Amino acid sequence: MNIRGIQKTSLIDYPQTISTVLFTGGCNLRCLYCHNASLACNDCNLQKYSNDEVLDLLQKRKHLIGGVVITGGEPTLAHGIVGFLKKVKDIGLKVKLDTNGFQPDVLKKLVSDRLLDYVAIDIKTSPEKYHALTKTKLPFDLIIQSITLLKEYRIPFELRTTCVPGFVTIEDFHSIRDRVGNVVYYYLQQFHNHHTLDETLHTLKPYPKEVLFSFQQFVKTFATCCEIRGI
Ligand code: SF4
Repeated sequence: MNIRGIQKTSLIDYPQTISTVLFTGGCNLRCLYCHNASLACNDCNLQKYSNDEVLDLLQKRKHLIGGVVITGGEPTLAHGIVGFLKKVKDIGLKVKLDTNGFQPDVLKKLVSDRLLDYVAIDIKTSPEKYHALTKTKLPFDLIIQSITLLKEYRIPFELRTTCVPGFVTIEDFHSIRDRVGNVVYYYLQQFHNHHTLDETLHTLKPYPKEVLFSFQQFVKTFATCCEIRGI
């Protein structure tokens, strides 16, 4: 699974659930604002945990936690994710996946095998600006396929956008709405300029709260629930 980090207890990463968070190494994007550059780049200096030792830890902690969050990096790139999550489910824990949504084929396998209880998909910005912000040329349509799958399989999910000034504007939310349609949960995240992968963002000032509130008002036109994190 290439697990490169573990947070034994989290009260905030899985809604209404105390969780253990597992961080996988490697990512197919290079978001300018990424705060997990060493994970995204699969830095060889990071500690590496075997599947067996992680499963053993989860087994021992199952009376303390309700679920596991698989995050990264991009967890759907991890070899053996299907078999690993089957073992997590056998322990009796719920699973939340954090993903950038660009691997709908892997997601399909996970949802059809009933291995996911909750999913968070990043919508980095509008399709028009994806390349500028994430350096990927992967088609935005892959994310739409992932969202469609979650709707079809009735897996509870949230979309989330980090509001990077200039890269995420009200016009971008119009474009996002036109592509994703109606959803239930949408979270807006405040941008923080420390430890970003791209150093030029270190001096970029976050949006004032009022701008995030105006985004929230708009997102509520297509999301049943829209909240702001990090302010
Ligand atoms: S999707 Fe972007 S923010 Fe997330 S780990 Fe990859 S590069 Fe970092």
